[in-house]
Amino acid sequence: MASEQPESGRGSSEEEDDFGYGLFPERSRSEKKPPKNFVYKSLFTFNHKCHVMLKIALENNPYAKLLLDAMKNSGCTVFKDRHFSCEDCDGCVSGGFDSSTSQIVLCQNNIHYQSHMDRVVTHELIHAFDHCRAHVDWFNNMKHLACSEIRAANLSGDCTLLNEMSRFNFGLKQHHQACVRYRAVRSILAVRKVSKEMAEKTVDEVFESCFNDHEPFGRVPHSKSDAKHAYKNFQNRDRYDGNL
Ligand SMILES: [Zn+2]
Repeated sequence: MASEQPESGRGSSEEEDDFGYGLFPERSRSEKKPPKNFVYKSLFTFNHKCHVMLKIALENNPYAKLLLDAMKNSGCTVFKDRHFSCEDCDGCVSGGFDSSTSQIVLCQNNIHYQSHMDRVVTHELIHAFDHCRAHVDWFNNMKHLACSEIRAANLSGDCTLLNEMSRFNFGLKQHHQACVRYRAVRSILAVRKVSKEMAEKTVDEVFESCFNDHEPFGRVPHSKSDAKHAYKNFQNRDRYDGNL
């Protein structure tokens, strides 16, 4: 029952493996220009690594897999090549969701580890999921933005590591809540020119309902194995729904 992908390495992997040298024709005759060559080479490396890690996240991470399935079921199928873009970003931003193009931006200069990539992809896919299922007014209604940021922080595992570390000092639930609230406020401040007080007020106004909205996971996945469980349940939920 759990035989999902044929895993034959067809299609996208060959363009990824081949990605690079053909794009930079100057490379072959540019031994005399090491600085330019160096810039191209490091760009190539970041971009290539970003695509490789993205592919791994989409194929192996249970959070991402569940979200991809859920979006497909809602009529918003996500395509790796069309809906993701590996780019250099300013500051220490890791990623973003561009609602005008329905594209997820991954900051290739700031994501260096697979676990980080997994979390960013999951976080941004939750925004994409919200964008798909509801008519989110990202720009004019700050409550909509706040709600999606709360859900993304709550469900993506953004607060899991912190949880693990402070489990013995704080009540697990309370600390998780505080982390979600803090990260949601921080995310709003990163994309909107509003005061911290305003961001906090908006987050508080919608916190209760958005924190308790666990779609499409069904519950808060506190670990990868939790997410794996949720993914299995999601697949079964779908199967039984079809029979009822
Ligand atoms: Zn976000």
